[in-house]
Amino acid sequence: MKAICNTTCTLLVIASAGCSYAPPPLVPWNDGSVGRVNGGMLFHGAELAAVPKQLFWYRQNERHWGVPRFTSAIARAAAVVQRERGGAPLVIGDLSSQFGGRISGHASHRSGRDADILYYVTTPQGTPIRNPGFFQFGPDGLASSPSGYLLFDVARQWRFIKALLEDPEARIQWIFISAPLRAHLLNYAFAKREPLEIVYRAAFVLHQPGRPALPHDDHIHVRTECAQDEIATGCQPTGPWREWFGEMPEAEIATADVD
Ligand SMILES: [Zn+2]
Repeated sequence: MKAICNTTCTLLVIASAGCSYAPPPLVPWNDGSVGRVNGGMLFHGAELAAVPKQLFWYRQNERHWGVPRFTSAIARAAAVVQRERGGAPLVIGDLSSQFGGRISGHASHRSGRDADILYYVTTPQGTPIRNPGFFQFGPDGLASSPSGYLLFDVARQWRFIKALLEDPEARIQWIFISAPLRAHLLNYAFAKREPLEIVYRAAFVLHQPGRPALPHDDHIHVRTECAQDEIATGCQPTGPWREWFGEMPEAEIATADVD
């Protein structure tokens, strides 16, 4: 009887393990964000949930998954903007698929550490509206859409970025954005006398990537760097390591400018 139970129990354990997604048996210690942003996978990710008035999915698809601390940091930052400045919700583009891996249209976004997020925008008169799509903004902060001109909402966009950079769980490594919009944000932060530490961080992470990457003049691409404990479970840092992350890991860090 005992032998039967042992066999049955073992089979039950195997069967139940098969129902939930588990790391590959050859590397059982791998978990979370595994590998590089442009060649990895995602285990036990979290879906960045749509929240009325706060977070809106641009597309109803299966690409809203990321490392849980990253998706929750994005949600927290959007909540701060909503609480302090009100207005229309933040519009979320692609993150990763539930289990990571390659998704069309992106070189990275494979291991739950990348998020495409549309800009906060207003009408030319300054009324906050939900960003209707990926429209290119010029150095004047204006974009032309079928429904009229859109204005880059520098105040709410800065508040969102500041919240991310202040959040220790977010570990923001890059925010890809076009150079003129980066300048608008930093000018606004200086004029507003924001804490120099945050402006300093922003100056490093806000970056227009070089070719062949897109200039990111129609959305921001936010990337989080591996945490120390995540490196132990398979996360491969892509660098650069930001000094405010704490001690640099021993793992080799190669500079990546992948979007
Ligand atoms: Zn992207």
